Amino acid sequence: MKGVCFLVTVALMALASSLASASDPSPLQDTCVAIDEPKDAVFVNGKFCKDPNLTVAEDFFFSGLDKPGNTSINPVASNVTTVNVEQIKGLNTLGISMVRIDYEPYGQNPPHTHPRATEGLIHFQFNVGKTNAVAIAGLSSQNPGVITIANAVFGSDPPINADVLTRAFQLDKNVVNYLQSRF
Ligand code: MN
Repeated sequence: MKGVCFLVTVALMALASSLASASDPSPLQDTCVAIDEPKDAVFVNGKFCKDPNLTVAEDFFFSGLDKPGNTSINPVASNVTTVNVEQIKGLNTLGISMVRIDYEPYGQNPPHTHPRATEGLIHFQFNVGKTNAVAIAGLSSQNPGVITIANAVFGSDPPINADVLTRAFQLDKNVVNYLQSRF
C-alpha cells in the first residue's frame, strides 16, 4: 500500500512539474516562405511553403517597424506592433519573430505570457518622438501567441465565477465584479 501511495505521489508530482518547452521545433530547411494558398505548394511544415524557385526578397521584408504604433487605442496606453510569420512569410520554420512596443507616459505592456515562446528585450529607449518610450523584443517562435493575464482572469468568456476569483485573489466580491465589468 505504501508503495502504491509513493508511486501515485511521484506520478502526480511529475505531472505537476512537467517541463515547459516554449519554442518552435528546430528549423528543418533554410527557407520555407509561407503561403496562404496551398495550390502551388511543395512542402508542408505547419504552414504551406512556397515553391523555393518563386521566393522573392519581399518574402523576408517588413516595412514600418521604425514608425510608432497608435498608443491611444487601448486603456493600457501602449501599442504592440508584431512582426511574425503573418507579416514576414519567410519567417516560416525559422522559429523567431519580434515586436515593437510603444508606450505613452505611464503606459504599460501588461503582464502576459507567450505560450509558444520565450522573449528577450533587445532594445529600450526613452523619449522617442511623440511616444514616451519604445521597446524592441525578440521571441523564440514564428508565431508566439499571447495570453494577457488580467484579460484571461477577469475577462474570460464565459467568465470565471466571481466567488472563485474573490477567494483566489483575496478580494472583495464588489472589486471582482468591477474588474470583470472592465473587460
Ligand atoms: Mn511579450
